Amino acid sequence: MPTSIAFLGLGAIGTPMARHLAIPEFALAVWNRTAYKAQAFAAAHSVRAASSPADAARGAAFVVTCLPTSRDVESLLDGPDGLLAGLEKGTLVIDCTSGDPATSQRIAARLAERGIGFIDAPVSGGTIGAEKGTLTIMVGGDPKLMERAMPVLKAMGEKTVHCGPIGAGDALKAVNNALLAVHIWSAGEGLLALSRAGVRPEIALDVINASSGRSNSSMNLFPERVLTRAFPRTFRLALLDKDVKIAAQVARDERVPSPLIQLTSELFRAAHTALGEEADHVEAVKYLEQMAGGTIS
Ligand code: NDP
Repeated sequence: MPTSIAFLGLGAIGTPMARHLAIPEFALAVWNRTAYKAQAFAAAHSVRAASSPADAARGAAFVVTCLPTSRDVESLLDGPDGLLAGLEKGTLVIDCTSGDPATSQRIAARLAERGIGFIDAPVSGGTIGAEKGTLTIMVGGDPKLMERAMPVLKAMGEKTVHCGPIGAGDALKAVNNALLAVHIWSAGEGLLALSRAGVRPEIALDVINASSGRSNSSMNLFPERVLTRAFPRTFRLALLDKDVKIAAQVARDERVPSPLIQLTSELFRAAHTALGEEADHVEAVKYLEQMAGGTIS
């Protein structure tokens, strides 16, 4: 008998992740807030489109969630069509949202009261990693639950790492993305300064990428997305803003002096406000260019 799985949240990364679960080993049900996306996915992959979170969760051994924020996941719990109305004792909820530790802990506690397991399992690797099934998955929670989830996690990712108690995956993901934001912003500042100083960005990146200042941003994002002016929309700036904000909160909660992360959070909030909900994360560079009154060229 195939294992029953529900997948909730067919967004930019949720959709390619869910595709890896549409295999004979699993009986998959998908749910999405905007119903036509779940219906189209179900038709394309011969799986079931659920009519509500409760309908998706009913009878499932695993429920995978992948929404913008932990608060969005929490908001699905209650009500007659909510997750709690469908979840059964013994089910394991795998939350792949890049969430915040405090809300994950609150959700886990509510589920535990009913004998339902929870792990936070945010991912990195972007939409391309999700398509290829090569995501890195960072797990917080009981290691035994992670072990139970491995057939599902292995279908979606290449590397799964147990990070600590509930919320540890969220915290690590947020710090990783704060570093991404720092790299994007600092590379942008540096290349703008260099182009005014007469150094072409291709030349600057050629040298930086053979030197100690290189990063994923300088090696991949700037050559492929900024210099080409392509700025494809794969990961919304709004979501990176949210991630840096979580990292800034984690640092404050832990009483770690963190001026750089706090400032980066302010800068990305300003960029998000200026560029709107649909802008891609790399378009933060456009905001920086507006401030500088020039482009990286
Ligand atoms: P998108 O914005 O593309 O999609 C969000 C999904 O969540 C949509 O299916 C949307 O439904 C649904 N949704 C939004 N709000 C609610 C709500 N209140 N209740 C129910 N459903 C809701 O996000 P992504 O897929 O890009 O990101 C999902 C998570 O994965 C985020 O936490 C993000 O930070 C993380 N992530 C994303 C990466 C990427 O490259 N995109 C990389 C790594 C992590 P609807 O269709 O109705 O709008």
